[in-house]
Amino acid sequence: MYKKLEQYAYNLLSHHSLKTDGEKYLLLISYVACIFAATMHFFLLLLHFYLGIIPLFIIDLFGFLLDIFLLRLVDKGNYLLFGILLSASVMMHTVMSAIHIGLNNLVIMYLLVTVIMQIMIPYSNVRIRALVFVSLLACMFALVYMHFRMTPVWDIGDANIILSLFNVNLAVFGTVIQLTVGNAIWSTILKFNRLELEKSKSEANTDPLTGLFNRRFSESFFKRLSTSGSNRIWCVAMLDIDDFKLINDTNGHQIGDEILVLISSIIRKNLRKTDIVIRWGGEEFLLLLKDVDVTTAFRILDKLRGKFESESLEVHGKIFNVTVTIGVCPLDNQNAEQSVDTCDRLMYKGKASGKNIVIM
Ligand code: GH3
Ligand code: MG
Ligand code: MG
Repeated sequence: MYKKLEQYAYNLLSHHSLKTDGEKYLLLISYVACIFAATMHFFLLLLHFYLGIIPLFIIDLFGFLLDIFLLRLVDKGNYLLFGILLSASVMMHTVMSAIHIGLNNLVIMYLLVTVIMQIMIPYSNVRIRALVFVSLLACMFALVYMHFRMTPVWDIGDANIILSLFNVNLAVFGTVIQLTVGNAIWSTILKFNRLELEKSKSEANTDPLTGLFNRRFSESFFKRLSTSGSNRIWCVAMLDIDDFKLINDTNGHQIGDEILVLISSIIRKNLRKTDIVIRWGGEEFLLLLKDVDVTTAFRILDKLRGKFESESLEVHGKIFNVTVTIGVCPLDNQNAEQSVDTCDRLMYKGKASGKNIVIM
């Protein structure tokens, strides 16, 4: 349940792409206020219907529909109107209740919860909220005065007890929720920010076309490798697609891109999970093979080369025969750039010797 709520909050936050944490807080707490108000109106609606107080049932129905409309206002970022309308609707509801059924059922509690809302929900500047705060208090005193001066239209008798019980619960829950939900919202916002940061970091390291790591990732990877003092063995290989320009020129860049995506997934699938595949440039891939010496790396890569040679690729019903040339050498953990240069030179040697070959 909590996870679902959290997911809902994440969706809301990412849908609105808000800049400051304050804006995120305002969005979530305003949503909570609308949903709380709608739930309370719904229960009151049922209760007034059950007790046969139709005028109040109609007012509750109106209040319920207004709460749904307020959600839309929050969605659009119109917080001022949301705060004023919600406070005004509570005031109207309380006055109408007092006129119809009196104050013996503690309807005045609605005003109390709304007073707290002026402190907890920063829907506008302090001056406006202070004004609404004072209006709510004035309304409260006016109702008490009215209570001693006039008799209500309806005497609901013992039903006052049921309604009092509901209203006290509403006030207690309304206050407790406003006081506690703030912390939950802040921790949700912090978690959301952390996830967004991780996402943007991984996006910065990912090639958008193929989903493979990009060159930027290799820079931080090599840096980590040289500073960690790890003595793990790696081999590094440069893979370049043969005559790719021809494929592009005869079939268009779009088809070329789709072939690149297919080739990327073939490379990924035919290496181990612990190996790293980087899209180095246009149609060049840097492969990092973990825990293997150069002869084993050669064997693995020659098998990959053979796979390209023997299997054709199908894109939009068209068949393509693609070959690759690969240069491979051991990776010097302390001087990775040098090793990349070496395997790049070996790859060019392979191109010069007729392509579709692995050179070590
Ligand atoms: P070689 O066998 O010598 O490698 O020949 P080649 O035609 O593959 O030449 P090269 O390696 O220089 O390839 C560069 C071509 O790759 C240029 C361009 O048409 C294509 N290319 C590079 N990046 C992309 C890309 O992102 N998408 C597409 N569709 N084509 C690309
Ligand atoms: Mg090429
Ligand atoms: Mg190339």
